[in-house]
Amino acid sequence: MHSITRKLFLYHTALFAGGFAGTAEAGTPAGTVSLAYIARLYSMKLKIFGKKAVMENRYNKVEIETNSRRAWINGVMIWLHSACRKSGSDWTIREADFKRGIDPILRTYAYAPGRMPRLVVLDPGHGGKDTGSISPKGYREKDLVLDISYRVRKLLEAKGIRVKMTRTGDTYPNLDVRSTYAYKVGADLFISIHANAAGAPSASGVETFITSSTGYDSTNAYGQDQDTFAFKNNTYDALNAVLGFSIHSNVVKMSKRDDRGLRRARYSVLKHTRCPAALVECGFLTNPDEEILLNTSSYRESIARGISNGVLGYFTLVKRALR
Ligand SMILES: [Zn+2]
Repeated sequence: MHSITRKLFLYHTALFAGGFAGTAEAGTPAGTVSLAYIARLYSMKLKIFGKKAVMENRYNKVEIETNSRRAWINGVMIWLHSACRKSGSDWTIREADFKRGIDPILRTYAYAPGRMPRLVVLDPGHGGKDTGSISPKGYREKDLVLDISYRVRKLLEAKGIRVKMTRTGDTYPNLDVRSTYAYKVGADLFISIHANAAGAPSASGVETFITSSTGYDSTNAYGQDQDTFAFKNNTYDALNAVLGFSIHSNVVKMSKRDDRGLRRARYSVLKHTRCPAALVECGFLTNPDEEILLNTSSYRESIARGISNGVLGYFTLVKRALR
């Protein structure tokens, strides 16, 4: 078992069996939960160190930056939909960030689907006429992510997991075709694989996206994209967080690159997919170091191992919940 999954397991077995009944809490604004309340639920100690609230017990550590959307679960970064804010003497976060983010990650068994996943669909980004990002040395995102996807497929198939891909060559299925394909073949998990680009060469690291919950904007949209209606994928908000966190934590670990966090965005392939879905950005083609890394088979293999370990971690958590 992978160490990250094992850590969550120990916690699962240690938590109260009765489960989490709700967040009705006197004294906090509607739609929010206080950190004191969360700490009590998890039997964690809550301490504020400077700009960080730290909740911890012997199994897990949850850190939340105050007046910020950044948080860490066991050292791996996640972005909240809304900043942690002070309310009276308490610090609070949005209920959606607790119920569809932190709690599913820490107590997957309470959110697990009724059966084991069977089919994983991998979506190598771009392809054909759409090269995706091109690095200064001319490496193309569409080629690199196809190679990574093949490696993930091989690793998962070696573990007996069925895998299909939205493209297997240099073709361009459009975004609708990709999510429709996943639905048609009966995907239980959908993972889109990309490489990043930014204006500043200094931008580096790995990040993983899941769709935003209904009513909240994307991590990078800064209030510009607050869709208030649900997309098909919003049915899977809690499991998206479980899948996204499992993949992201393993990709960070295997790539050894900067952790840019588990983020939220309504990318087409995420919001329209009818199963838990995540999109991985495997490094920056615009960063001089990562451009070179992405062009090496050893780095692509380590990313592929991160993604496949993340999927295996998800399978293990679901299997455990179904026992
Ligand atoms: Zn891309």
